[in-house]
Amino acid sequence: NRRFLLVKRPEGTPSPSDFSLVEQPVPAAPEGGMVVRNHFISLDPAQRGWMDDAPSYMPPITLGDPVRATTVGVVHESRNPDFKAGDWVLGLNAMEDYSIVLPGGFTSAIDVTLVDSPSRYLSAVGAVGLTAYFGLLEVGKPQAGETLLVTGAAGAVGAMVGQIGKIKGARVIGIAGGADKCRRLIEDYGFDFAIDYKGKSEAELSALIAQAAPQGVDIVFENVGGVVMEAVTMNLAQRARVVLCGLISEYNATERVGLRNLWQVIVKQATIHGFLIAGYVDRFAEGGAQVAQWIGSGQLRADEDIQNGLENSYDAFMRLFSGANTGKLVLKIA
Ligand code: NDP
Repeated sequence: NRRFLLVKRPEGTPSPSDFSLVEQPVPAAPEGGMVVRNHFISLDPAQRGWMDDAPSYMPPITLGDPVRATTVGVVHESRNPDFKAGDWVLGLNAMEDYSIVLPGGFTSAIDVTLVDSPSRYLSAVGAVGLTAYFGLLEVGKPQAGETLLVTGAAGAVGAMVGQIGKIKGARVIGIAGGADKCRRLIEDYGFDFAIDYKGKSEAELSALIAQAAPQGVDIVFENVGGVVMEAVTMNLAQRARVVLCGLISEYNATERVGLRNLWQVIVKQATIHGFLIAGYVDRFAEGGAQVAQWIGSGQLRADEDIQNGLENSYDAFMRLFSGANTGKLVLKIA
């Protein structure tokens, strides 16, 4: 059982020495629990936050434990009456070949015959699709003809948010890093405008946003924070709604960054609404069914960036922060 352990809390950007790949015996299923063979590991920006010893919606990963991760795998041994060996399951486990799943833990059976790959339960019909669906529709509440701006737009969540915005009749602007991602926003995901943030100052970005949205932005789906968010905040329409979903530009910062032009939120009578997908657990079936229907009808495109091998955990994870990933980043380990 290979396990990718967190052995040191990263200071700023994680380095390979913060982790250790070890080999340990395959565990036995505890009373009432089971052992799952992980096949696909979800690599998420949130994992960076779990590595810090800071107050959050979950306790930090304990040093010496494997890095916590959502995984899809197959039950290897079960002493839980609700699951049997061979069942496919989705759960909050860790970056390791085999995970012990205690009774009462967050694990659910999945039907892999409904999808082209079990990894879809980590992307389109999993947390990514659900985050885009509930974040945009329940918090952003786009109306036809409104202008929606998405940051981190070419990423897993961002690309889905923009496409759902188009389904709802919004004008959609995406901000992403690099010419190729901007091209993909228009050609692959149907955005109306794409802005490359790389190498641009807040003032330069703000001017580009103003060109794309002369009347201001009605809804912001914020994944990035920092300078990008500040430039967007300079372009809010009256009573704009900001869905604060992520702040990836700050996750490796050694100091909190903050928003320097918060005054604009008052001027525009805007709302900034913190969003956490965990708050919608009781409606996952509804959201998942709608997302699956849009994918099936060809209205929604969901790309995955599949990397291979637990031994490549560090390099694969860092793709999220270099922007190398094209679509939902998943590590395939079996
Ligand atoms: P992505 O697929 O979007 O990958 C991360 C992307 O972020 C990179 O490809 C890169 O794109 C961009 N990025 C990385 N560093 C920076 C930086 N310093 N400045 C600007 N952009 C950067 O990941 P996800 O779709 O999984 O997550 C997107 C966001 O959604 C994250 O902020 C995440 O924390 C949040 N999230 C929140 C949830 C919630 O419940 N609140 C649930 C799931 C995700 P580029 O090349 O464009 O720079």
